[in-house]
Amino acid sequence: MAYCSKCGSSLNEGDKVCGNCGEPVPGANRSSSNSNEIWMGILSYLGILALIPYFVKDQTPFVRAHAVRGINLLLLEVIVWVAVGVFSFIPVLNDILSTLAGLASFVLSLIGIINVANKEDKDLPFIGTIRMIKD
Ligand SMILES: [Zn+2]
Repeated sequence: MAYCSKCGSSLNEGDKVCGNCGEPVPGANRSSSNSNEIWMGILSYLGILALIPYFVKDQTPFVRAHAVRGINLLLLEVIVWVAVGVFSFIPVLNDILSTLAGLASFVLSLIGIINVANKEDKDLPFIGTIRMIKD
């Protein structure tokens, strides 16, 4: 059991501020919830794993926003891969398109992960305004 450093009342595990006086609780609690946010945010940009932060309840708005972006990216990738498949009868064009599509999805996922790591609640470039699903 931890106690508030200011007023001495007992704190519940996971409390970020004292329930009695509102004094912030220093140390472990806050950083652990932040690293959970980061990991959940990173999952948002690892393809189908984006479904985990999206469907797990009680995520922070930060995680939720990134999960929605991750799923939008995933849906766009599916559409692009189907579109690339249409050109499979032209081998060279198909190679070029699938390379570009793979590169684009890799770069966008990477940008998303970097945003999460920097704790920035930002849309992805180019596709950020395209919303297949909404929050
Ligand atoms: Zn207190």
